[in-house]
Amino acid sequence: MLETIRKIAEEIGPELDELSKNIYDNPELGYEEFKAAAWHTELLEKHGFDVEKNTLDLPTAFVATFDSGKPGLKVAFLSEYDALPSIGHGCGHNILGATSTGAGIALSRVIDKVGGKVVVFGTPAEETSGAKVLFAEAGLFDDCDLALMAHPAAGYTRSGSSLALVPVQFEFFGKTAHAASQPWDGVNALDAALLTMNGVNALREHMLPTSRVHGVIIKGGEAANIVPEYTQLQYYVRSLMKSYNEELVEKVSRCAEAGALATGCTLKVSRYELPYDNLISNETMNDVFSEALYELSGIEIQPPKADTGSLDAGQVSHICPTIHPYFDVTDGRHVAGHTRELAECTLSDYAKQQMRNTLSALALTAYRIMEDPQLYKKVKEEFENTPK
Ligand SMILES: [Zn+2]
Ligand SMILES: [Zn+2]
Repeated sequence: MLETIRKIAEEIGPELDELSKNIYDNPELGYEEFKAAAWHTELLEKHGFDVEKNTLDLPTAFVATFDSGKPGLKVAFLSEYDALPSIGHGCGHNILGATSTGAGIALSRVIDKVGGKVVVFGTPAEETSGAKVLFAEAGLFDDCDLALMAHPAAGYTRSGSSLALVPVQFEFFGKTAHAASQPWDGVNALDAALLTMNGVNALREHMLPTSRVHGVIIKGGEAANIVPEYTQLQYYVRSLMKSYNEELVEKVSRCAEAGALATGCTLKVSRYELPYDNLISNETMNDVFSEALYELSGIEIQPPKADTGSLDAGQVSHICPTIHPYFDVTDGRHVAGHTRELAECTLSDYAKQQMRNTLSALALTAYRIMEDPQLYKKVKEEFENTPK
């Protein structure tokens, strides 16, 4: 099967290179990826996938399904294709999407032997308000048995963790007054905000060192001679586990309640963006992927990266067993993410070869789990026993 999948990857490689290059040349921001979504769905339709466009009324989302017509597992490949403002595909989502779509096509060509379905989810706007969160809320991943994707980077690394993230906003409502002649008549919303920030700074000592709480003052008042009647703070609260992060959001919110109580302001707490869950990598799937990659290419994957942000793939990993490893596009050079240099790397012959290796390894990982019920049981048991 390894040789068969490798050959399929070689065969579809040029079409995927073209897809990646076209998307590179036409960078589109989140929820505006009209060309990219059209090119992905065109290619998937050409390869016999049943394509649903405009998923959840998001014009650049899609769900492309290839059904073997036989019982078996349902495998999801997660495709991304959004760019960044001014630096284009500095996160490499042009080649990321081509790799996922390519893995889906490769698996569809051999799925008859193992049964089941393969679905390529076209998920817009990973860089901003990721559609995977909306897909997850709508239950689109509920009947998926496995989810896989791989992200371009400097170096091959196993799928690790990412931080759960809650974007929390505090608004304080006070009362204006002349700040010199009648300050006693005012209720100071800026003081409420500052007390909140000081409270959060004191809280930092007593939270897990792996958590991050960082915020800014969006509105801090209008003029020095008016007691501020309205202020607005926005925080990101992040932790390695969603459950702990929810506790931490409570504690941060209590700092805001304290600020409001101390000053006499009223407080409004809300979420200003979509929350991301932490990524839970399935280690059994990680092992199958690492082995497949080694057998295909001789590449030894490295341990997961220690530094981490937040990913919308996190949401998927709370619903079904998931991996999100990284594949090398820089040929050993140190190139940071979110740079023009990384975008350029995705066009090299080296990166094209790694796309072929990676999509083959993703497809082979899925195939090996689909054909082996014992292995799938291990994947599933690990998923069920991992704390969220
Ligand atoms: Zn990015
Ligand atoms: Zn990215």
